[in-house]
Amino acid sequence: MEKRVAVLPGDGIGPEVTAAAVKVLETIGRRFNHTFHIEYGAIGGNAIDQFNNPLPDETIKLCEKSDAVLLGAVGGPKWDQNPSELRPEKGLLAIRKHFDLFANLRPVAAVPSLLHASPLKEEVAKDVNMMIVRELTGGIYFGQPSRRTESAAVDSLVYTRDEIERIVEKAFELARLRRGKVTSVDKANVLESSKLWREVVEEKKKAYPDIEVEHALVDSCAMKLITNPAAFDVVVTENMFGDILSDEASVITGSLGVLPSASINGDNFGLYEPVHGSAPEIAGQDIANPAATILSVAMMLKYSFDLKTEAAAIEAAVNTVFEDGFFTADLASPGQRVLSTKEWAAKVVDELDTQFVSNSIMFSYV
Ligand code: NAD
Repeated sequence: MEKRVAVLPGDGIGPEVTAAAVKVLETIGRRFNHTFHIEYGAIGGNAIDQFNNPLPDETIKLCEKSDAVLLGAVGGPKWDQNPSELRPEKGLLAIRKHFDLFANLRPVAAVPSLLHASPLKEEVAKDVNMMIVRELTGGIYFGQPSRRTESAAVDSLVYTRDEIERIVEKAFELARLRRGKVTSVDKANVLESSKLWREVVEEKKKAYPDIEVEHALVDSCAMKLITNPAAFDVVVTENMFGDILSDEASVITGSLGVLPSASINGDNFGLYEPVHGSAPEIAGQDIANPAATILSVAMMLKYSFDLKTEAAAIEAAVNTVFEDGFFTADLASPGQRVLSTKEWAAKVVDELDTQFVSNSIMFSYV
């Protein structure tokens, strides 16, 4: 297979973690006989510095001619006081909008060797394996009118039937590849948009008789994520609820540095990035954990290129490196040997190079 991948390293630790992930992608190419053409572009703060634009036209053109995008992270104190159109995160919002990346997928799965870092009891966290599917391009963050005066402010939560249908379909399709359960989260006891959401889920489920469907109110879902997170398989919800719930879920496994994400459109074109930010205070020191970005590459292989075996090979390699007791500074226990970003990625590459590869690799947490 031959694919073009645009790499947008971004700011802070972004260049370090994407460099590590590119090494892993190149290893997959070598081991499985694929060619990945990699080209680099600017986004976020560094793009503001170079082009006075957080998402330059050159970057959009690069992504348009690519099959998928790998992003590091954007932002940092250097640009915190900039006017809103020159903020790094504007680049991220603009690229999501430009490519209509309406489905944000965030897998959250317990990694056995990292359970000690979870804020939850081990027996509560140990079987967690869920996929949060968040609608990303509609809802209250984009609805109009949105304005304020000195004494009042208004934001609008707007969803069309089409917008709900396509994200709900995506959730059902994903559930088919997993344990076959969808939890749809809304606030249907109060919000009109949620009543429409629930109606669409009820209609759509008729086409998926093999999928178990439950509805949950967002407030009770927030509680259950802490009391019984292992009960969830696919969780589908609108933009703002998904924003909050996915951040809540991200701490369950105790390791923000290992969580990948994907934002994909109707053609399975996707932007793949770690859940964490640019961690400016540790940038440039070769100490960041590259696991989340490496696992984002696994998601790219799985969801944009349909290379499931290759994706599973990365997941298995990452898991083995953890099980063998190799950690970066964020996860190492006192007294444990600490690996640098480059050293940790090299362990994953070594593991991929020596791994017995077969179609029977079933371990999956992306
Ligand atoms: P952050 O995720 O960058 O950092 C939170 C904490 O986790 C910090 O202590 C950091 O050192 C640590 N951390 C994060 N990733 C790590 C990794 N890979 N390895 C080791 N430790 C890691 O969040 P923040 O501090 O709230 O934000 C910092 C900047 O990142 C801000 O400018 C923010 O706007 C931006 N941000 C960007 C994105 C994105 O690009 N998608 C997401 C969140 C935050």
